[in-house]
Amino acid sequence: MNLTDRKKRFTRKKYCKFCANKELVIDYKNIDMMKQYISDVGKIEPARLTGTCAKHQRKITAEIKRARQMALIPYVID
Ligand SMILES: [Zn+2]
Repeated sequence: MNLTDRKKRFTRKKYCKFCANKELVIDYKNIDMMKQYISDVGKIEPARLTGTCAKHQRKITAEIKRARQMALIPYVID
């Protein structure tokens, strides 16, 4: 896997998914969606990689932290 592939991991065009689709709800119970915003090692992906706007990035961060507290998402992935 080269560097170019890594950059394409998300979408080629960067846009905020949540602004584009108002029906998407950022919720800590929505684990599958949350996982898209967590890196291989369990870290929250920065907005510059996902294209998420500042407003929704804040929401995602808060929900991921909540999910971790509820033990739905691990803090660190081995
Ligand atoms: Zn947004």
